[in-house]
Amino acid sequence: MKAVLYYRGALSSCNYDCPYCPFSKTKDSKATLAKDKQQLHAFMDWVREQGGSGHQLSIFFNPYGEALVHRWYREAMIELSHMPHIEKVAVQTNLSVKLDWTNDIDRSKAAFWATYHPGQTSHAAFLSQCMKLYEQGIPFSVGSVGIRSAFGAIKQLRQLLPEDVYLWVNAFKDQKNYYSENDIVYLTEIDPHFQLNVPDYDSLGKPCGAGSHVFYVQGAGIVKRCYSDRKVIGHLYRDGLEGLSAERPCTMKKCGCYIGYIHMPELKLGEVYGDRLLERIPSGYTR
Ligand code: SF4
Ligand code: SF4
Repeated sequence: MKAVLYYRGALSSCNYDCPYCPFSKTKDSKATLAKDKQQLHAFMDWVREQGGSGHQLSIFFNPYGEALVHRWYREAMIELSHMPHIEKVAVQTNLSVKLDWTNDIDRSKAAFWATYHPGQTSHAAFLSQCMKLYEQGIPFSVGSVGIRSAFGAIKQLRQLLPEDVYLWVNAFKDQKNYYSENDIVYLTEIDPHFQLNVPDYDSLGKPCGAGSHVFYVQGAGIVKRCYSDRKVIGHLYRDGLEGLSAERPCTMKKCGCYIGYIHMPELKLGEVYGDRLLERIPSGYTR
């Protein structure tokens, strides 16, 4: 089976202090970090075994907080990128960590989903990190949340990044009708696909790849179908992919997050992102 696994361990801490985030400047206890490391090692053991079962996997690390400050995630990314049955390994990151370790990564399989947080780092520092990936030929997308106070900073970043690096803007959805028509025009000039992210899509009863070939794995092996539906559909290590996989219509009213709605076949987002859907790089961008 070709499957996408989103993985999130016990980690819930970050070295940044974003005002809109529950994990800002939190510190995990030694016990939590040890648990996170042990959970990731168990996941890696399972992934290694899947080569023999004929599965082809794409893995996306979407931690609560920042994963790459921890060695075990960096090592996992390097190892996964070299496994023949892994099609892709990607990570959501604030890109604050030193990037010397990326020399060892197989760049044909690794990708970064780098989020820019104005106020936490300077343009120059973030851009310099992006350029390290760029110069190594490692695919990445760059993004930010489109809150009004960040409009100028996002635009400036777009101007500074090479044209073939995609910059996405996530619509701010905590406030209803947040954007004026002018705001939408402004943000669409920065991110030509911004308007794909603005709606919360009606999803109830509709087909979705989440739960059939896309799974959300939580540290201990618990599996849910997606970021939004809290129902547990099984256990990765007990049930395996065949045991977990079933066609299931969506039971949630709306789907508004990129990591979810991209798996709704009716949106046909494969036509926009091609084989870089997971890391959010539209076709036509060479990075
Ligand atoms: S970098 Fe991401 S995880 Fe860290 S505080 Fe900011 S939003 Fe939260
Ligand atoms: S449509 Fe969205 S909310 Fe529904 S199952 Fe798919 S990812 Fe989850």
